[in-house]
Amino acid sequence: MQVVILLGAPGAGKGTQAPLLAQRLGIPIVATGDLFRAAVRDGTPLGIEARRYMDAGQLVPDDITVRLLLDRLGRPDADRGVILDGFPRTDVQAGALDEALAARDSGVRIAVLIDVPADEVIRRMSGRWVCRAAGHPYHELFSPPREPGVCDIDGSPLYQRSDDRPETIRARMEQQLGALGAVVDHYRASGVLRVVDGLQEIDQVGDAIAAVVEAAVATHGSPAGDPPAA
Ligand SMILES: [Zn+2]
Repeated sequence: MQVVILLGAPGAGKGTQAPLLAQRLGIPIVATGDLFRAAVRDGTPLGIEARRYMDAGQLVPDDITVRLLLDRLGRPDADRGVILDGFPRTDVQAGALDEALAARDSGVRIAVLIDVPADEVIRRMSGRWVCRAAGHPYHELFSPPREPGVCDIDGSPLYQRSDDRPETIRARMEQQLGALGAVVDHYRASGVLRVVDGLQEIDQVGDAIAAVVEAAVATHGSPAGDPPAA
């Protein structure tokens, strides 16, 4: 089984690339957030356990998340592999996932980092502006107004919410980028990290991700667990 992990800072394009890669490889995306919601909704034993922490306003412990993931990986549509979304977020979680997969003679086959420099992440995340009159949204880079600082629809001035200002974004990002760096280091150390330049066009990023994933799968053979011929 191929466990593929996509890593990237917020705004690096993971949300765009994950579905493209899933379609290309013909394997599902497994998002831990969705797993939690489904388990809680269906009242499964793990869902009930997770619910207790959530109701108490606590983080759900990693081992519950990992058990939930393993359950999901055991379903037939995951036979050929999965793309993990939203996990691991810390190096501790990455280690817990490694251990759980190793116990099943499996492992993370490849972790792809969509690499975007921190300054560019902040530029992408902080480009949001809204209009005074009706809150019509714009983005400096992705959907700029025809005339800078003015709403296309009603002509009212645009402003930035405090949450969207670069200094706020920078402070919020620092913590997330630190955790991401630790996860990246974890996979670099285990030799499965591949880095793709996230500053390219979306299509080029997609091609680059597909190329490194396909190369990794070809090198190691399939299904998972087969050691490369010595
Ligand atoms: Zn407007």
